[in-house]
Amino acid sequence: MNKFTILVVEDDAPVRNLITTTLKSHDYKFITASDGGAAVAEASSHNPDIILLDLGLPDMDGVEVIRKIRTWSSMPIIVISARSEDGDKIEALDAGADDYLTKPFSVEEMLARLRVAQRRLSAAYPAANDSVFCNGKLKIDFASGCAFIGDEELHVTPIEYKILCLLAKNVGKVLTHTYITQNVWGSSWENDIASLRVFMATLRKKLEAAPDSPQYIQTHIGVGYRMMKVE
Ligand code: CA
Repeated sequence: MNKFTILVVEDDAPVRNLITTTLKSHDYKFITASDGGAAVAEASSHNPDIILLDLGLPDMDGVEVIRKIRTWSSMPIIVISARSEDGDKIEALDAGADDYLTKPFSVEEMLARLRVAQRRLSAAYPAANDSVFCNGKLKIDFASGCAFIGDEELHVTPIEYKILCLLAKNVGKVLTHTYITQNVWGSSWENDIASLRVFMATLRKKLEAAPDSPQYIQTHIGVGYRMMKVE
């Protein structure tokens, strides 16, 4: 039996059934909610490990559900949005969602996102307060401000180092352009987003063995970046 419990928030019954049938066949435990009010109530009373959250709900916006849950919990939230809700998707990530699925999605894709969230749960939390972060060959010593790949020190600029640390501290989580630029530059002008792309390209050249098929930093076009957990 999979030890993770998933809260499925979806008002569309056929989609909800597809999700719960898939979860059941992969030994997940689950609870369901068909509106935002029930979602917040179930999240607080059953303390699920991960939430799959549809953004278009009958009683309130899914983003509002995220804001409410984030006042007391950092549990991973994966949003499910229709294409027409793309702006909402970014707003949801900025509000504290971890990841997203765009409708229509495949069940394999959903299971893969759940595994990412599970790895974040089992790997990221203990590392968050440690003074040394390790992920695959990447090592960041926060105390000395140095990063390494294997035994080789990475010669990164102060901005690249800030971006790297921000991604590392949120390993497994999609960070939006706005979130990153606000944390690195303290603002999020278009110029900063353009600069971010440039810094990300140079950072990747230093970090990745093959920058064209990155192992550590994944690009989410039009959304942001995520550091993957590397075995
Ligand atoms: Ca819906």
